[in-house]
Amino acid sequence: MIDNQTFMLAIGVGNIVFALLMAGYMRNVDNTPALRYWMWARLLGGVGQACWWLAPVVNLPVIDILTPFAWIGGVIIEVAAYCLFFGMPHWRRLAYLAALASGLVLVGAMAAGVSRLQMQWIVSLIMAWFAACAAVLLLRERGASLLQRIIGVNDALFALAIGAWIVFEHGRLDVAITPVGGATYLLSYMMMIVNGFGFLLLCKQKDDLQMQRLATIDGLTDTLNRRAFFERAESARLLALRLRKPIALMMLDLDHFKRLNDGFGHACGDEALRVFADTARGVLRDHDLMGRLGGEEFALALPGTGLEGALHAAERLRVAVAEAPLLSCAGSYRMTVSIGLVMIDTGEELTAALARADHALYVAKTTGRNRVEVGPAMLKRA
Ligand code: GH3
Ligand code: MG
Ligand code: MG
Repeated sequence: MIDNQTFMLAIGVGNIVFALLMAGYMRNVDNTPALRYWMWARLLGGVGQACWWLAPVVNLPVIDILTPFAWIGGVIIEVAAYCLFFGMPHWRRLAYLAALASGLVLVGAMAAGVSRLQMQWIVSLIMAWFAACAAVLLLRERGASLLQRIIGVNDALFALAIGAWIVFEHGRLDVAITPVGGATYLLSYMMMIVNGFGFLLLCKQKDDLQMQRLATIDGLTDTLNRRAFFERAESARLLALRLRKPIALMMLDLDHFKRLNDGFGHACGDEALRVFADTARGVLRDHDLMGRLGGEEFALALPGTGLEGALHAAERLRVAVAEAPLLSCAGSYRMTVSIGLVMIDTGEELTAALARADHALYVAKTTGRNRVEVGPAMLKRA
């Protein structure tokens, strides 16, 4: 069975190596401050653990003093890193206050000449408290990812294990590994692995989602971009085909948009595009797809919607757009939209259906604008 000293050295070295790896990684990437905090947390925690191993070996008072400060400093910076990661900088300030309070407790305990064992209790309690704080930060969101939950549960178990260790083992360090002591050490080991890798993966997950968003969403209107719309509409078409459900397709173009741009400025045109997209979102159902194909041209795919329902939705949208004010730049101006609507025929390619919708849109434009034109059904080959 592995002894406590060796165990602590292994965790300490693991954390320090982790910190070095992260420092190397951060040299070449545009990293977030949260990652930098995390690197320091690992380094300080690792130094604390290594000092803990070193203390009985070298018997130097400076190591005894450094150990609790490094260890506690590490867990507090870890909590601060979570605060930054979750966009809660004001909470990070609270973590600093807690760091100050913990530092004062440690200094007070040293001045009072507490024994090594008593100091270990104090350090363990403070660590349990901060591990619990980290668990709350990670688990507080209902929609937290599985990864976030795994790290949060690990933190919570670690806090509980330290609590149990203090209550049942009185924080004794000189015992052979007992079930409670063993669980505490095992969870410390898991903390090194799960939290070390976990935070890196959390950052990567966030970056991946951001990249995915940049690649699929139009930055101005928050609708799908052209490529993403084609991809998703094609999937929706295939699904509708398999389920033998109807799917409606619309092409939309804002009327006389150039006039708005010329009369009220380009920024007002941008605002109109945002208002249009918001208005459309208010009218559509959650699973309807909306994409900006370019400029002031949009496309909609309504899976599971027949001609009557789609016509109804298109009319509602047309009226809602005509009533939507551009409050910030042209309060009196009322924009309008022309819409070409078709039902995608069985076996018809998406591009062919879009061409028909575009033609219907052209008819809507040439017959007065601010109207919905339904395209004729696809001509079947004999
Ligand atoms: P119609 O009723 O025939 O559609 O007339 P229109 O003026 O809307 O038609 P046209 O397609 O000629 O004009 C579109 C204008 O949209 C031209 C372009 O400057 C403007 N536009 C394209 N993209 C953007 C954008 O992202 N922001 C703003 N503000 N204007 C844009
Ligand atoms: Mg237009
Ligand atoms: Mg246009």
